[in-house]
Amino acid sequence: MSDNNYHRRTAITRLSVSESDEQLLQQTVAEYKRGCQIAVDMAWERCRSKSDIQNLAYDEVLANTELGSQHAILACHQAAANIKSCITRRQDGKKASKPTYTTPTVTYDSRTMTLFTDRQQVSLTTHGDFSRVRADLVLPEDSDGYQHQYLDDDAWEPTESTLHYRDGEWYLHLGFRKPVADDTTEYGTVLGVDLGVDQVAVTSTARFFSAGELNHERREYERVRGGLQETGTQNAHRTLQEVSGREDEYVKHVLHSVANGIVAEAREYGCATIVFEELDGIRDRLPDSLWHSVWAFNRLTDYVEYKAAVHGIDVVETNPRNTSKRCAECGFVADANRPTRETFECQQCGNRNHADYNAAKNVADVYLRREQQSSGRRGIGQYALKSGVVTPNRGYTPYSAMEAEAESTDKPHPHRANPSG
Ligand SMILES: [Zn+2]
Repeated sequence: MSDNNYHRRTAITRLSVSESDEQLLQQTVAEYKRGCQIAVDMAWERCRSKSDIQNLAYDEVLANTELGSQHAILACHQAAANIKSCITRRQDGKKASKPTYTTPTVTYDSRTMTLFTDRQQVSLTTHGDFSRVRADLVLPEDSDGYQHQYLDDDAWEPTESTLHYRDGEWYLHLGFRKPVADDTTEYGTVLGVDLGVDQVAVTSTARFFSAGELNHERREYERVRGGLQETGTQNAHRTLQEVSGREDEYVKHVLHSVANGIVAEAREYGCATIVFEELDGIRDRLPDSLWHSVWAFNRLTDYVEYKAAVHGIDVVETNPRNTSKRCAECGFVADANRPTRETFECQQCGNRNHADYNAAKNVADVYLRREQQSSGRRGIGQYALKSGVVTPNRGYTPYSAMEAEAESTDKPHPHRANPSG
């Protein structure tokens, strides 16, 4: 059965971790990141497939980290996935530098994690001599928590999961899957999201989350910090830390509200999946001075993932090619399609639209096409867009630029009938 013939859901839960286990998990995260890095360093520019990288790097990862054998394999597979997306980007004419592992995340599979649903506990392999950590799942008090739908139902089988360290807490993103019952693959409606510098996010339903205020505030904080750094006194140092703390809080607050907006949009349009472009791709587009945005985008997708999970909405990342240069209407790809940073104008079909909106539709469209291709069947999939819902294989009435400009406000848009019928 192909990988696509499963429904997939994520249940996110906080973990209650004892102080001694806390240290074990922190060390495991560090060892796992190191393991991924060793595998990438060895395989970079040399090989690409999971099995090749595993053959090449497994012994080295095992010898130079304290990871157990299965986590050494998972680290090799992680490296393979990241190298693969670098290759795709290069084929696309984009820059792709060797990945570095900074995010505090560890992958778990059925060999490294055991879920005890009856006791609401999980056992996680750590680094070292097959030591395991047992932790309680901190689920909502009532039995209404969405997590129970998957935890308490044997039809949902636990699959690859990830452990995250966020805001001083441990979270487990438990992956579940269930075979698709009938013969038709149902992809449901998909919401595409483009992330960027001028707009934090733009959805395929043309909801714009402007970065204007965020960018302005950050420049202000930067100015204040600059002044304090020059002062250089003890007192100034303390104030500097306070200012940085306030800035982080402010940014998180903004990101939470953007994440809420994205999830609300997905719910309004009945979307089963929210699709982001892989963050590696975004990093390439960002000016160097905005390195901080990578951190912010990581946070944002994380927030969206756990807010969406509550509503049974899946969050995936895809590696779309030519997001910014491809026409979402006719598929024509050209540099000339982007006369300015904000404008998209197709040289073939004349489609004219906001560049980020076009990109958001591409993210959804390319994801759906790839899913259909890799499952080898024409599934039922569509992506949500402002003027209705479109089925990628059917095409639809082009969308007027006037309408786009008139409606590009930061408000939800009412659902409309499918214009293509
Ligand atoms: Zn076109």
